[in-house]
Amino acid sequence: MLSQDILVVGGGLAGLAAALASDPQLKVAVISKVHPLRSHSVAAQGGINAALGNSPDGQEDTWEKHAFDTIKGSDYLADQDIAELMCEKAISTIYELEHLGVPFSRFPGGVIAQRPFGGAGFPRTCYAADRTGLVILHTLFEQSVRRKVKFYNEWLVTKLAVKDGKCLGVVVYDLATGDIFPIKARAVIFATGGYGRVYLRTTNAFINHGSGIGIAYRAGVPLKDMEFVQFHPTSLYDTNILITEGARGEGGYLVNNKGKRFMEDYAPSAMELAPRDIVARAIQTEIEKGNGFEDQYVHLDLRHLEEKKIKKRLPGIREICINFAGIDPIDAPIPIQPAQHYSMGGIDVNAQCASVVEGFYAAGECACMSIHGANRLGGNSLLDTVVFGKTAGEEASHAVKGGKGSRDAEKFLLDEALEVKKKIEEWGKKDSGEKVHLLLNRLKVIMSEKVDMFRNKKDLTKALEEIDELRDDYRKVFTSSHCLRYSQELVNIIEFDSMLDLAEVITLGALNREETRGSHFRVDFQDRNDKDWLKHTLVTLKDGKPHINFKEVNITKYEPKARKY
Ligand SMILES: Cc1cc2nc3c(=O)[nH]c(=O)nc-3n(C[C@H](O)[C@H](O)[C@H](O)COP(=O)(O)OP(=O)(O)OC[C@H]3O[C@@H](n4cnc5c(N)ncnc54)[C@H](O)[C@@H]3O)c2cc1C
Repeated sequence: MLSQDILVVGGGLAGLAAALASDPQLKVAVISKVHPLRSHSVAAQGGINAALGNSPDGQEDTWEKHAFDTIKGSDYLADQDIAELMCEKAISTIYELEHLGVPFSRFPGGVIAQRPFGGAGFPRTCYAADRTGLVILHTLFEQSVRRKVKFYNEWLVTKLAVKDGKCLGVVVYDLATGDIFPIKARAVIFATGGYGRVYLRTTNAFINHGSGIGIAYRAGVPLKDMEFVQFHPTSLYDTNILITEGARGEGGYLVNNKGKRFMEDYAPSAMELAPRDIVARAIQTEIEKGNGFEDQYVHLDLRHLEEKKIKKRLPGIREICINFAGIDPIDAPIPIQPAQHYSMGGIDVNAQCASVVEGFYAAGECACMSIHGANRLGGNSLLDTVVFGKTAGEEASHAVKGGKGSRDAEKFLLDEALEVKKKIEEWGKKDSGEKVHLLLNRLKVIMSEKVDMFRNKKDLTKALEEIDELRDDYRKVFTSSHCLRYSQELVNIIEFDSMLDLAEVITLGALNREETRGSHFRVDFQDRNDKDWLKHTLVTLKDGKPHINFKEVNITKYEPKARKY
């Protein structure tokens, strides 16, 4: 049986940061369902935050101000000690990345350039034009190859093997051979990214099904704050490809069909650079008031930035607009609409990235510590992946070297793999039933129509009923081919189980939380209610049903106040 000391699941930024930080004397491997360089981190555009104070307008910046902005942006749901930890580590993290070879854009004079981003008091977002994720991911991948980290690409993890509260390994499906088998590990780190494809309109890659979060949930690990789903204000109309916040950071305007910069009605001081929850809701409100174009979108106007700046700072955005919308932002405004973008919630872990299951860790977008609370600031996710990916690698190494982690697991692991195999055989035995791609489409419509930016009790209750109906239909699912090699249908069937769970947990949390906070807007409870709801939601699977309980928010020195921008 294949056996590792540390098994990292996910080859995006969090996974590679974890692998690189793991003790080189240990046997470390990374599993990814796609080649690591196709992980969604590669698409990150606008940048990564750290209070370097390099901008002429940002010399007064400090990590404490970064922490305050993060906490205020989170609508005070972030655990303040963890937000402080991340912001303090941000500065050395950027220099480490630079020394590893990340080609950041520069100001004249050579220091790392920084641009303004939403909800930030100073220009503190470091960037590489509008391809920041790409350059960091490539650099960490090069370093991992140099370090001889073992990669298992195009392997899908289907199950976490947990016995008596200890993680013993995982079960995988090797896409190239069609084989299903277990891997023994003394520590497992999930860095499996977000679940954007649960929604119809999303900026996320097609691979972002969130199965890692669902797998952890089914293994008994609680999910935290899943009701907080971030909708990005500016995705390209129709395709929903992201148009980075960096476009507004560079000075872009949001304009309605009356030619008005409407953000003056919603955030008169921060305007286009208010936090994402506020800007996304403003855009949707304008569209619903009839102030949009074709009742679908508003304009992001970059024309006043002029050709030289657009070509230098936003070349990828220009390419996307030309290739996918047939317009050049140098001479035409960009049609944009909000779309699902990020998951503030995820696998419940502590500041050491450890979960309640011994030997099981999580980092990056699939995890929730919670840094981003009810609303993440742009540029803080790349930072979170690198800072806490590293923490996960270090902490797992300490635990494994300290002798923790099980060795006698083989029989249990083989049984776990057998169970997965039996399920797959059952799907293959049927020659009729439900097709998974149709179920997937139905789920996306439910989530986009009833668990969107504006929520209410009636729709959320109905959504839960419809998710239940989908679960019944999922029991009738079948594979139309018996070939297990590169069966995308099988991948979807396996992952759909998780997607149903995630949809249910998001919706349940949203129904339960009778207040408005950050990205969670209840039309029937429009105020933030700190007295009853300044707490994290935890959902745990018990006897096949979700159970809700709560956890305190850690407050250090920032008493919750009304947010004004
Ligand atoms: C278009 C876009 C632009 C963005 N721009 C920015 C930005 O400029 N700044 C910023 O701070 N944030 C940005 N974000 C957010 C940020 O990019 C992501 O949150 C972050 O990159 C996630 O990294 P990750 O390592 O957690 O996951 P990912 O990069 O998504 O990697 C997940 C990995 O897990 C693997 N995986 C998943 N499930 C399984 C499974 N079951 N078995 C095996 N492998 C599995 C995948 O193959 C992949 O390797 C952006 C997001 C989007 C969508």
